[in-house]
Amino acid sequence: MNKKRTLLIAEDSKVNRKILKRILEAEGYDTLEAENGQIALDLLQSGKYEISLVLLDLTMPVMNGYELLAKMKESGLLTSVPVIVTTGSEKGMAEIRSLECGASDFIAKPYNAEIIIHRVESILRLCDNAALINELEIDLLTGVYSREAFYRHAQMMLEENPDEKYDIVCSNIENFKMINSKYGITVGDELLRCIAAHNIACIGPDGICGRIGADSFVVLRKSRSLRSQEEIGQLYSQTFQDAPVKNFVMQYGVYPISDRSASIASMCDCAQIALSSIKHKYGMYYAVYDDSMRQKILREHQLTGYMELALAEKQFVVYLQPKHDVQTGRIAGAEALVRWFHPELGFISPGEFIPLFERNGFVAKLDRYVWEVVCTILQGWMKEGRPLIPISANASRVDFDADDLPETISELVDSYGIPHNMLHFEVTESAYTDNPQKMIAAVSMLRSMGFLIEMDDFGSGYSSLNMLSELPIDILKLDMRFIQKGSGLLPNSKRSILSFIVSLSKWLQLPTIAEGVETKEEVELLRSMGCNYIQGFYFAKPMPVADFEKYMTDAKNAPSLQAVTTPKSSEIPTTFASGENMPCVLIVEDIESNRELLKEILKPYYKIVTACDGAQAYALIQTNHAKLSCILLDLLMPVMDGFQLIDAMRKDGFLDEIPVIITSEVGSDSELRALHLDADSFVSKPYNAEILLHHVKKAVNERDFRKLRLRV
Ligand code: C2E
Ligand code: CA
Ligand code: CA
Repeated sequence: MNKKRTLLIAEDSKVNRKILKRILEAEGYDTLEAENGQIALDLLQSGKYEISLVLLDLTMPVMNGYELLAKMKESGLLTSVPVIVTTGSEKGMAEIRSLECGASDFIAKPYNAEIIIHRVESILRLCDNAALINELEIDLLTGVYSREAFYRHAQMMLEENPDEKYDIVCSNIENFKMINSKYGITVGDELLRCIAAHNIACIGPDGICGRIGADSFVVLRKSRSLRSQEEIGQLYSQTFQDAPVKNFVMQYGVYPISDRSASIASMCDCAQIALSSIKHKYGMYYAVYDDSMRQKILREHQLTGYMELALAEKQFVVYLQPKHDVQTGRIAGAEALVRWFHPELGFISPGEFIPLFERNGFVAKLDRYVWEVVCTILQGWMKEGRPLIPISANASRVDFDADDLPETISELVDSYGIPHNMLHFEVTESAYTDNPQKMIAAVSMLRSMGFLIEMDDFGSGYSSLNMLSELPIDILKLDMRFIQKGSGLLPNSKRSILSFIVSLSKWLQLPTIAEGVETKEEVELLRSMGCNYIQGFYFAKPMPVADFEKYMTDAKNAPSLQAVTTPKSSEIPTTFASGENMPCVLIVEDIESNRELLKEILKPYYKIVTACDGAQAYALIQTNHAKLSCILLDLLMPVMDGFQLIDAMRKDGFLDEIPVIITSEVGSDSELRALHLDADSFVSKPYNAEILLHHVKKAVNERDFRKLRLRV
């Protein structure tokens, strides 16, 4: 042994101590002596010496050998300090009893130097190895095997049971990072221990368990038939009832071992591949490996290899899909959706490459590219004098990793001279769950800059009300594809989910866009529920920009406000005008029947322009503010509501220039809010023609007065 070790001789006979001391010191050990059990115990507990082993006589005064063993066991000392008992005449029974008491070995008197040294050395070696194995093999947190140990023991188990069928099952906690940050590391650790304990109990003596990553577990178990996804979901919510965290989701990847010659590590890879195939898929608790999954991995390697060049060569093409106003059927916006046309591989769907790019981070680069293309499209429309409609671009969770995302976007959009409200960003909840604080900060910043935020895929399963209350968003997008199964009418339960989401968003004063809408029945249903916008194959599939431009000019689709002008043609449209010299009133209101009513009342006295949401109104105000005498503003609107419009007007100084009359339901606190917003007056719905005219007249006079003041 290289290191000098200290051994404790507990022996009442001075002669015996001397003999042992001589034998041991001759071999290079240090020794300590104790003439009874109590002194030995004191030495052990003093912490002054690092004692590697105790040579213990059984019969001693004050505290005998058995008593010392019991004390050592009690205090936990025995697990780290091995004891060799030296027996004399009482051999036999004493040996058995001392082993039962926790001694590691025994030596008979009279002493034989060679035997003593041999025993001491082998016990010390054994202890060293055990400590080493302990350190490497067992995951200290959960008590299951660590990665390498799992591989070794799994290999052994397979070799010992050549005729048995086994599975490797890898499992993972969905969103463990979030659990850690929300509940703290201690609770996270507790959850991991709970899962490890569950795994051990579940597989019993016929399998083994390991932990191979922070929240990644693996088991080798005898093959068994699999339950349905629903059953597994229900089963484990029962199983983990006592877990320190409720409602967490575990997912499992199963690899039924077919090729025993493969390494355990590569078997685990297969289970991991199966597991990753259901990552972030709601309602999927397990997946079983099959060879197509490996093909998929190979394909992903291929795409990863091509992606940089593809971006440089502009193989990514942006398509637009219209969003239609439910009331009017006209276009109210568009979503930018990217496609990949590879010269050899052909068309590749974003459904295939986006999840891959989200994993490897490339999506951040691609998204930036798409945003820039969107800017060039909008700039083109402005230059050509086409009506401007907002385009929504997707922002992936990876985009939010950058601290300066809002600034980057704002710089980009400004460099093209695009009004911020013409760009919307569709975000998903996964970005929020990844890092709630960061996401809230970025989204708030973007909104304060005038961009609009749409919550994408709401209703996809993970959406939580908690998130809705914390994350400031402008529009809720619900995806029919998550709700509907097949085509045809929606079954009752799906219908109530839909109606719940739509009324929830009304309650939150958020407009809703339903996407993935394919049939007339769905359109009618959504209309009856009060959903505001629809995007889906029923109207149009995503299409190349040139096609979209043609689609926009089609009379029945044309953006509902022909007055939405570009800076180039800054004339107030005269579509609704009945006289040239009349004061001009802008009606901002999303519900068509309300717009018509207001128009009817005011038409005889004023020139009327209308906008069906804040964004359109804002574009109009920016270019035509000098000609507007008064604005009638509804507060609850999609795209940009009345509150946001007023905020934007205030920032640009238009609020001082043009009087605003808020129109809203009575009974709500809207009137109070309107006054707080510095609106000039308030008219309640349903409209009374006389009162309305009175307010508008007052406002128009006020406007004339302000003009005068400006001139002075
Ligand atoms: P998403 O953001 O939920 O986009 C809507 C998807 O639904 C689009 O698929 C669209 O073609 C499809 N869709 C629209 N209406 C219907 C319908 O009536 N029926 C059915 N069955 N599908 C409909 P697409 O274009 O294949 O895009 C898939 C996903 O890829 C998108 O889902 C989005 O998550 C992602 N993606 C696409 N482009 C981009 C991008 O530029 N950046 C990022 N980060 N993700 C993108
Ligand atoms: Ca989207
Ligand atoms: Ca979506």
